Amino acid sequence: MNYGNDDEVVDIIVIGGGIVGLAAAFKLNTFRPDLKITVLEKENELAAHQTGHNSGVIHSGLYYRPGSYKARNCVDRRRELVSFAKDHHIPHDICGKIIVATAPSELDHMNRAFNNGLQNGVEGIEKIGPEQIKEIEPYCTGIAGIWVPCTGIIDFAAVTRKYAELLAGRHTASRVLTGQEVTGFEKDGTNTLVRTQKTVFRTRFIINCTGLHCDRIAKKEGVEPGMQIVGFRGDYYDLTDHGRKKVRNLIYPVPNPAFPFLGVHFTRMVNGETECGPNAVFTFKREGYGKTDFDFRDTLEALTYMGTWKLFFKHWEFGLDEYRRAFSKKLFLRRLQKLVPTLSMDDITPGRAGVRAMALDNDGNMIDDFKIVYHGNALHVLNAPSPAATASLAIGNAIREMAEQHFKL
Ligand SMILES: Cc1cc2nc3c(=O)[nH]c(=O)nc-3n(C[C@H](O)[C@H](O)[C@H](O)COP(=O)(O)OP(=O)(O)OC[C@H]3O[C@@H](n4cnc5c(N)ncnc54)[C@H](O)[C@@H]3O)c2cc1C
Repeated sequence: MNYGNDDEVVDIIVIGGGIVGLAAAFKLNTFRPDLKITVLEKENELAAHQTGHNSGVIHSGLYYRPGSYKARNCVDRRRELVSFAKDHHIPHDICGKIIVATAPSELDHMNRAFNNGLQNGVEGIEKIGPEQIKEIEPYCTGIAGIWVPCTGIIDFAAVTRKYAELLAGRHTASRVLTGQEVTGFEKDGTNTLVRTQKTVFRTRFIINCTGLHCDRIAKKEGVEPGMQIVGFRGDYYDLTDHGRKKVRNLIYPVPNPAFPFLGVHFTRMVNGETECGPNAVFTFKREGYGKTDFDFRDTLEALTYMGTWKLFFKHWEFGLDEYRRAFSKKLFLRRLQKLVPTLSMDDITPGRAGVRAMALDNDGNMIDDFKIVYHGNALHVLNAPSPAATASLAIGNAIREMAEQHFKL
């Protein structure tokens, strides 16, 4: 079907129907109901990639470096997300989580995370000992821990669909179109022609929120992003009926600051299942959710990028370990048993996977904070890692402010 209309000029095209794209469009239209916004998503449904494949955790803001954009926004906007979920009846539960140290060598990192939490204003956090750990999670064993009461669980795909519903429902000139893959851009006076595989749209401004493909869209639009997306797959196991008896809510290991992936953890989901994971392995396909998925272009681009090799060399031991665990249930279980020692092979069964868009610079450094760049009549979201789903309303708002400032809306 051809949705484009040669004479029609849209104010803003948002590319990408994940939680960031929809939050940006939703915030823009809430503040500026006069704007005609079109969201273009390549898949036939919203939230089909990172947003629909994440852990579903409303993060507290404990982990992030005080003063970082992540830290500043996670705490305030977490509260905004929770009240949004309440107002719109989105399944969620503020069930709290524990972070558990299992060896003396982890105590320094644990204390650092606790102090970060205090500086970031995370409410209600408490240091706990082995008995309190057992009271909260009877099957979990640790030498010390942190109780984080404001962490919760939510269905982020449902949040995304709600942003879309409110956008199109409140603002009849705005729309969300699925099955529209953006393939290129062309200048047309002060406007831009946005090509999809089906049609051409004419717009004044563009906002690129394409997650795993944001670097490619940025390049097509004429921006040299100074980074590249490399996909890292995270595999999950599900707890079986028997295993579920051993975990009440959320159990996390102490974070290793060198790897911002938070480690393999237990997460009760809003659908009643409990997942454990994810690990983090280099994937040969940006949207590859199977262990052997392969895409020639994705692999070639990743392996001809210097940053990927520099990352491999810096962290080869960690990478190798993660790879072994990806193919061995026994090794995966062993990691989980650090937190829940009585967990057995029968308690876990292979589950789904997600792929993180890891933004790497040329030196192999993972870009940690959110990154949004302005170019001509476009904004490009080049890094929106976890907790971007928790902080989606904050990122949406930041994009709105940048759009108003740079696009002079
Ligand atoms: C395994 C995993 C666990 C995580 N756990 C958490 C968590 O518990 N809590 C939390 O807050 N965050 C978590 N995150 C992070 C969070 O999921 C992401 O930061 C967030 O979903 C990013 O949203 P996005 O909209 O930028 O990307 P995406 O959700 O990937 O959306 C991008 C969209 O762009 C579309 N697109 C791409 N190219 C084109 C094109 N050419 N034309 C049109 N559309 C296009 C894609 O199809 C996709 O739908 C996790 C992430 C992963 C991968």
